[in-house]
Amino acid sequence: MVADQARGVCSSVRMAVAVIVLSLCLMACQTVPETEREQLLLTSPDLEKALGDQAFSQVMRSHQEIVEGQDYETLQRVGRRIVSVAQPELAARGFGDLEWSFHLIDDDTANAFVVPSGQVVFFQGIMPILENEAGVAAVMGHEVAHVIARHGGERISQRLLVSSGTLLAASALSDDPDEGERWLGALGLAALFAMEMPYSRTHESEADYLGTRLMAKAGYDPEEAVRVWERMEAATLSLPAFLSSHPTSRSRRDALEADLPVFRELMPDADKQSPVPVKGVGGH
Ligand SMILES: [Zn+2]
Repeated sequence: MVADQARGVCSSVRMAVAVIVLSLCLMACQTVPETEREQLLLTSPDLEKALGDQAFSQVMRSHQEIVEGQDYETLQRVGRRIVSVAQPELAARGFGDLEWSFHLIDDDTANAFVVPSGQVVFFQGIMPILENEAGVAAVMGHEVAHVIARHGGERISQRLLVSSGTLLAASALSDDPDEGERWLGALGLAALFAMEMPYSRTHESEADYLGTRLMAKAGYDPEEAVRVWERMEAATLSLPAFLSSHPTSRSRRDALEADLPVFRELMPDADKQSPVPVKGVGGH
């Protein structure tokens, strides 16, 4: 009898969760600007920002930052330029209030990542491959595009759906940033945001496309994004997460090259004649 009751309660909870998840799906479908891709978002921008902050702090605890020198200065300059042209798209997605910061980590890994709270992190090891300011702009654009496209929130939402045998999915509606830390520990979201779990092929291609648009709007020659992927392919065979995530460097390069005329149209007229001067970084 007791067991029967327990089973009954259990199945109504399961039914309730199923209904909640279904309603969330109906309510929470959004469209990525420019690519028009439909995405499922169970998170609010504020929650994504709170989780991003937590993830950033966790990662930086174990890394040494570089806060001077040519590479550092280049990151600050390029970051400000890209974010300023991205502002309307960021605002439209609920991320217009971010305090952006651009960090350089003393680590030979060729890697970079962003969190939805506006911290962009480049590892020193990626700078020689980027080679110049426009190369930095290609990756900076890509990282800022991950925030515009809310790929972080989308990944959390996917993780929540996967773990939604519990009422976690329902809690996802909460806007309370204090809940962030609890979730982060429970779901291992730091790893999700940062390096351990590469973005999907769809997310990477979308960030390439949106990011190259941003670099062109900021006055950088978008062709340098194509060159960056050529150099990445040539640079090393055993690549870390950022580089080895699907799609491959070659297919990313080819996709960008095919869209170059579209990207060039976005450049300010003055910059079409003479793009932002190429200045060496990473020891070049
Ligand atoms: Zn990416």
